[in-house]
Amino acid sequence: MASLLVEKRDIDFILYEQFDVLELTKKDKFSYFSKDEFDMTIEQALKFAENELAPINQDGDRIGAKWDNGKVTIPPSFHGPLKTYGEAGWVSAADDTEVEGQGLPMSVFTACNEMFHAANTAINLYPGLAHGAGKLIELYGTDEQKKKYLGKVYSFEWGGSMCLTEPGAGSDLAHVATKAVQIDDKHYKISGQKIFITGGDYDAKPNIVHPVLARREGDPEGIRGISIFIVPKYRVKDDGSIGEYNDVACAGIEHKMGIKGSATCQLSFGDNGDCVGELLGQPSQGIEIMFHMMNEERLNVGVQALGIASTAYLNSLKYAQERQQGTDIRLKGKSTKLLNLIKHPDIRRSLLWMKSYVEGLRALNYYAAFCMDLRNAETDEAAAKTANGFLEFLTPVCKAYSSDMAYDVCEQAIQIFGGYGFCGDYPVEQFARDCKITSLYEGTNGIQAIDLVGRKLPMAKGEFFKYIVGQMEKTINEVGGDMALQKYADLTRKAKDSMVDCAQHLMGLMQQMQIPEAFVSATPFLEVVGDTILGWMHLWQLSIAHKKLSEIFEKANAMTEDEKKAVINDNREAAFYSGKVHSARFFISKILPLQEGKVKSIKDDDFAALQIEEVAFSEVAVAPAGV
Ligand SMILES: Cc1cc2nc3c(=O)[nH]c(=O)nc-3n(C[C@H](O)[C@H](O)[C@H](O)COP(=O)(O)OP(=O)(O)OC[C@H]3O[C@@H](n4cnc5c(N)ncnc54)[C@H](O)[C@@H]3O)c2cc1C
Repeated sequence: MASLLVEKRDIDFILYEQFDVLELTKKDKFSYFSKDEFDMTIEQALKFAENELAPINQDGDRIGAKWDNGKVTIPPSFHGPLKTYGEAGWVSAADDTEVEGQGLPMSVFTACNEMFHAANTAINLYPGLAHGAGKLIELYGTDEQKKKYLGKVYSFEWGGSMCLTEPGAGSDLAHVATKAVQIDDKHYKISGQKIFITGGDYDAKPNIVHPVLARREGDPEGIRGISIFIVPKYRVKDDGSIGEYNDVACAGIEHKMGIKGSATCQLSFGDNGDCVGELLGQPSQGIEIMFHMMNEERLNVGVQALGIASTAYLNSLKYAQERQQGTDIRLKGKSTKLLNLIKHPDIRRSLLWMKSYVEGLRALNYYAAFCMDLRNAETDEAAAKTANGFLEFLTPVCKAYSSDMAYDVCEQAIQIFGGYGFCGDYPVEQFARDCKITSLYEGTNGIQAIDLVGRKLPMAKGEFFKYIVGQMEKTINEVGGDMALQKYADLTRKAKDSMVDCAQHLMGLMQQMQIPEAFVSATPFLEVVGDTILGWMHLWQLSIAHKKLSEIFEKANAMTEDEKKAVINDNREAAFYSGKVHSARFFISKILPLQEGKVKSIKDDDFAALQIEEVAFSEVAVAPAGV
């Protein structure tokens, strides 16, 4: 049975020492919270994750979701925790109290969500989807629709889903073919197939509310003709109770590489001509409404990736501290005394590589959540607009950079375990498999990169990008004033300048209408932005941790290196800050400089990938039988 490993101290550091979420309590919106309440909530989340979610993570993987004759079952052990999610109010924890939420800042809920994903990411998708469906109804539903569905979904009495994808409409939703035929002023007959629907059907909830993208009869082709409908699995009677079956059938589930405990369903709407949906919002507003949900879900995917990467790193750290293999390289074979893996230089490099990515990704994702809180709480319109612009810019980076790097962290974690990492006795191979989906759904990472270059970079005439750069400069200038940290400030400045240079280059290509030439570098550019933001986050953290560590040394009267080492070995707080300092030093001096090479390659105007004739790629031929 797996136990949960989380970096609670680093979570506290980011919330209280780096971003100071207590500042939020000075705003009206969050004024009724205190640090005690934030701490208590995070503590409860940790207990739930530790006691109820982590112990059944392997059930999700080994038993998985099953489909039999139209019925979807999930592991029996999932049912109890899925009830707790609702009873404990986790689904609507960060929603307003007017809709029976707890009104928590998103940054605090992100801490809880990270732990849930670290413990059991497959189960955590069910409440996440219910929340997403509820949010759409909260924001765009009529009073009647809210009365009918919202309470049930936010309390997680019923499940929820998000029905976009079809066999012919994946990344490009313009081709949605599901139909809606009006039957009265409120209702439509829905017919069509949706695929890959997370939590589209499962046996733990008596009803599931599906927001479904469909095209009304007569509406134009393409994105603009798409509307969105609320389609429950079972119709809802006037008194709010469950009524008759609404002709929403599950035709099968996917057999997947990971997140096997999450049912990924093929849904058939209206096979018998009897599926009824209600229009949500206005006609043809479908994509706009769905994108509201998608943007939040993209941030959620970043946190999902972070949670998995964090636990993968911690599991490999624990293994490296326990497993004995190899001798001291300095003794050139003269000693037979086995060392713990963590003593070997190559393992230390790999562990610090993982640590620095995980901590950087945590800062990035919590920062996005913090911007969301500022946007929601800010009464000054201009400040709220800036926070929103910041969030818009960060969203594709949180989603794509976090998921790509988290997968790399999981891969490194497997490496630390050697051959055992490849086997099912240890949890890291499951983490890697579970993590992979994060680069694919909610818009593939390729689509996120295009969004960054094509939309977010030029947004508001480049103002939001400039604002981020301005924030980076502020940190760099502040830290650069400290002689001990000058080197790290200089390296970060260099990376920041190089990112700006790269952005200008791509903007130049776009202005000259060389769109393919710009988009061919979209993914590497997103990586450059991610690297630079992580460098900035690390520099910011370095300045705080360095100061705190110096204060501890001073208090302990530790002057020499040996005395400082003794303090670090004796004092958990000193060890924590020392870890932060090393993590930041490693990222800024060993990883961040690689960014410059990436920029150089983006700026090189050799467009082989665009120029190669398709026939010149490689011959794709099936080997003749018997060869
Ligand atoms: C486990 C799982 C759960 C899912 N859950 C849901 C869900 O709950 N609801 C839902 O509606 N969908 C869901 N999806 C679907 C998911 O969002 C899609 O798989 C995803 O949007 C990509 O669509 P596709 O698979 O058709 O790939 P395609 O769109 O065919 O893309 C294939 C590749 O081409 C690239 N590509 C596509 N278009 C372009 C372009 N214009 N320019 C450059 N590159 C491009 C993509 O980046 C990708 O690398 C889920 C999928 C999975 C696997």
